[in-house]
Amino acid sequence: MKQRIPSVRGMLAAPAPARATTAANSLVLAERLAAELGPRAVSTDPRKLLKASSDWSRMSPVLMEKVPPGRYLADVLVRPATGEQVARVLQLAYELDLPVTPRGAGTGNYGQATPFDGGVLLDLRALDAVEVGAPAADGSGTLTAGAGARLTAVDAAARAAGRDIWIFPSTKGSTIGGFIAGGSAGTGTIERGTTTDGWVTAVTVAPMDGSGRLTTHTGEAMAPYLHTYGVTGILTEVTVRTDPARDWVAVYASFAAYADLVAVHRSLLDLPVLPRLASADEPALVASLPAPFPLDATRHSLRVIAEASTVEELCARVVAAGGAVVAVLEDYAATDLLSSMSYNHPVYFRQRAGHPCFHMETGGLAIWDDPDAVRAIYPGTLLHLELMARAPLAMVVGEYESEEQVLAGLPRFDAIGMGVHSPHQWYVDRSVELARETARTTDPKGLLNPGKLVAAPPVDTRVTIGAR
Ligand SMILES: Cc1cc2nc3c(=O)[nH]c(=O)nc-3n(C[C@H](O)[C@H](O)[C@H](O)COP(=O)(O)OP(=O)(O)OC[C@H]3O[C@@H](n4cnc5c(N)ncnc54)[C@H](O)[C@@H]3O)c2cc1C
Repeated sequence: MKQRIPSVRGMLAAPAPARATTAANSLVLAERLAAELGPRAVSTDPRKLLKASSDWSRMSPVLMEKVPPGRYLADVLVRPATGEQVARVLQLAYELDLPVTPRGAGTGNYGQATPFDGGVLLDLRALDAVEVGAPAADGSGTLTAGAGARLTAVDAAARAAGRDIWIFPSTKGSTIGGFIAGGSAGTGTIERGTTTDGWVTAVTVAPMDGSGRLTTHTGEAMAPYLHTYGVTGILTEVTVRTDPARDWVAVYASFAAYADLVAVHRSLLDLPVLPRLASADEPALVASLPAPFPLDATRHSLRVIAEASTVEELCARVVAAGGAVVAVLEDYAATDLLSSMSYNHPVYFRQRAGHPCFHMETGGLAIWDDPDAVRAIYPGTLLHLELMARAPLAMVVGEYESEEQVLAGLPRFDAIGMGVHSPHQWYVDRSVELARETARTTDPKGLLNPGKLVAAPPVDTRVTIGAR
């Protein structure tokens, strides 16, 4: 049975319309859009609605209880093909007081694309054009993509033009708009930071103000649209920075002891060219990683996307620390496979292997210097490590007991000087005041992605790490 989460955003203006009215008006919208955009752009097929109304929040046992697939369903699925069509859909939805929840590839982890109030599910994947700009004399460059372009396609277009995009997540099949609106860190983060650290240079946005227009923002004016889950407007096109393409190599190493692994992991920040990614796992997590060859699950695994000229030095450091170089794969596709075992993917692989678990996103030097203090926070803790510019990140993987147990860990991370962010809640947790202020103009009826932008979320939404 569907439950309804009261849309606190609705309190900005009018209260959210009754559910029955939403369902009826969705059918009106479906008919009008089928006539304007063509029947293929609209669907009320229950199977498609079921699939599109949930995301990868199934990775969280907390969210599996709160937002299981099927509990909240959109009434109509709309698939516009251009920015102008997105603007038109919003104009009609505004007239009919219909909630609109944007969706890219649905790989978000937090339930942040769940259509709590029904209405329109806006599938943006048909906005998939990619145009790579010519580089400037200093080597800098940009690329412009439709918000629904998948990062696999965006990266392929960039590489074909001799460019690297700055960052992409471990779910490379996600859309660039979804990554900018809902993701944060990934491959490239060590050198280039997160999605809000200067990567994005322009966003074109459809506001939910009845105007049917598109607006383009650059510089500081983009802030309300980055990592705010579409509550301030729908991204239709984005421009991001590129670097000259580098020769990336996938390096696999293994270590008998955590301390040896750490010695190399922390030394990577001194390499002459920073690695694109540096993931590491304790043995119990190694067992379920889908590497291109069997990994030794009795040893700690380090996997680095290193620039070719640094590989010799990296391998020497591995050996000097008592580790073993397991493989050096020079094919770019091999670096993609390595990337798909990064960030929270190892958590998913462990769950898929039959081990129920949850994870907490954390960061700080204690991961390297005092791992036992980190391990003491949750029972049965396993550590998956990543690297940022100054410190490591860790997906702290624990045995799940209850939401209370998960949340009780948050202040304990504070106590050992670690940053933390809980992936077990769906609320906009960055730029919250800015988003609320912007939405008063861009979404005066409070119809965009209801239930995500809340003044006082009922759960802990602290973000004290620089990623996610
Ligand atoms: C196994 C796994 C690993 C992951 N690893 C990473 C990682 O390494 N780094 C990382 O940052 N994230 C990671 N994520 C989370 C997720 O992949 C990212 O948030 C992702 O980039 C979202 O892209 P998407 O296209 O799937 O967006 P969706 O999940 O469809 O949407 C994400 C959010 O953005 C909104 N949205 C989507 N498109 C638009 C748009 N055009 N305009 C406005 N709002 C929009 C949605 O409503 C939702 O709130 C991972 C997820 C999984 C399941």
